[in-house]
Amino acid sequence: LPKALYGAERPNSAGVELGSREALAGLEAEIAAGRKLAEAASIIGGKAGGGTPRPVLSPIDGSPVGTVTEAGAEAASAAMAAAAAGFHAWDRTDVTVRAAALDKAAGLMEARRGMLLALLQDEGGKTLDDALAELREAVDFCRYYAAQARKIFGPGEHMPGPTGEDNILRHRGRGVFVCISPWNFPLAIFLGQVAAALAAGNAVVAKPAEQTPLIAHAAVKILHEAGVPTSALHLVLGDGRTGAALTGHAAVAGVAFTGSTETAWAINRSLAAKNAAIVPLIAETGGINAMVVDATALPEQVADDVVTSAFRSAGQRCSALRLLCVQEDVADKVVAMIKGAAEELKLGDPRQPATHVGPVIDAEAKAGLEAHIAVMKGAARTHLAMAAPAQGTFVGPHIFEIARVEDLTREVFGPVLHVVRWKAGRLAPLLDAVAATGYGLTLGVHTRIEATLAAVAERMAVGNIYVNRNMIGAVVGTQPFGGVGLSGTGPKAGGPNYLKRFAAEQVIAVNT
Ligand code: GLU
Repeated sequence: LPKALYGAERPNSAGVELGSREALAGLEAEIAAGRKLAEAASIIGGKAGGGTPRPVLSPIDGSPVGTVTEAGAEAASAAMAAAAAGFHAWDRTDVTVRAAALDKAAGLMEARRGMLLALLQDEGGKTLDDALAELREAVDFCRYYAAQARKIFGPGEHMPGPTGEDNILRHRGRGVFVCISPWNFPLAIFLGQVAAALAAGNAVVAKPAEQTPLIAHAAVKILHEAGVPTSALHLVLGDGRTGAALTGHAAVAGVAFTGSTETAWAINRSLAAKNAAIVPLIAETGGINAMVVDATALPEQVADDVVTSAFRSAGQRCSALRLLCVQEDVADKVVAMIKGAAEELKLGDPRQPATHVGPVIDAEAKAGLEAHIAVMKGAARTHLAMAAPAQGTFVGPHIFEIARVEDLTREVFGPVLHVVRWKAGRLAPLLDAVAATGYGLTLGVHTRIEATLAAVAERMAVGNIYVNRNMIGAVVGTQPFGGVGLSGTGPKAGGPNYLKRFAAEQVIAVNT
């Protein structure tokens, strides 16, 4: 394949060298200055929505992070009506103005990174590098979609045709987009969906996960300040019932959803049940993500990449490694090295820069993971069972060996890795078994044999394949991200085809 190298217009934002004591101290000072109790309520037509306030507690230690006021189903319908009223003006706004607002929002986020990083850590339970990576991804999404929008939403493209006729293909917004986002990337995925829908000229009603409303509220405030009209962007805070009220509303023209496969099915059913306009769903869901390691892989590198892929972010990424498939000949050695590397992980308060693994998002997530771990302790061979701090909602990394791929029947969203062995010459049936899960998000391969790589890439219908490296942390504009099958509909976030799915196409044929 021809290689595209980073050019002068590489959109990605700058990082911070956390290994430098000075840089780290500066960043920590910014975060400390940005930390304050936050308040969030729905924002409909620029006005704060009502409801009963409740405290938002940190998964790190249960301490208060702020207060959220959730709206009921009536607010959902008020927001949809307000967005429908705001759509045409925003869609008719020149794309350069829409894009400039997103660029400005990116700059504001960089300027206020202390406040945003504090929320990502306190509300989202993120380690410093995860919080920083997420902030950069959010900034990158805004700039990348702004740049893409300028390319796509111009005056249109002349199509070939007979003399005496002018045929123009152009893209426009679809109407009101409902954006429903998860707690595991409360800033990046929330903003990625919203920025894409807005860039394409849609009005947006955004519903973030109920676990992380404060970050979403801060992001919407920044977008408004950057120039997105309050008639074009509305925020509705609430749980799944609020989401259902939004997707069930007559005015919905498109839905962008990231979360569980079950919820994606429910949204699809609700969109179909209206017997009205046929509404597209852009869904990014989970995965039983596998990594295939053969006897030619470098064990040290495998160990490092497995620990990163399975345990970074406490395994709470939909890209995370769930099922490690190691060739039998090297399995004992590789698993021992992974175990050794994992035992070095430091669990605890993610605000301490030395911490590698922070808490899982809430008590419900912790209870679900503990139940799975209890079952696996009886059913599988335990290679690793790390203890977790008692305070907060922590789960220690675990590694279990299962006999067959089929023994793992669902996505386990946390720091639990499953290992299965495969025999030399039996790669094809292994891949068939992985494919039979029906998921298709990420896949890792560690091999130095070209033919193995070719066989894997040919056989596996997955969105993102990572070779001889870790399998998380897709970079905007470099590794467009998203899966197929039970893992989602595409198009890929952070890629050149994403915005078009948020748009309606129109052809104007003029007899000249
Ligand atoms: N894009 C993220 C990554 O590559 C995962 C997104 C998600 O968890 O939904 O790690």
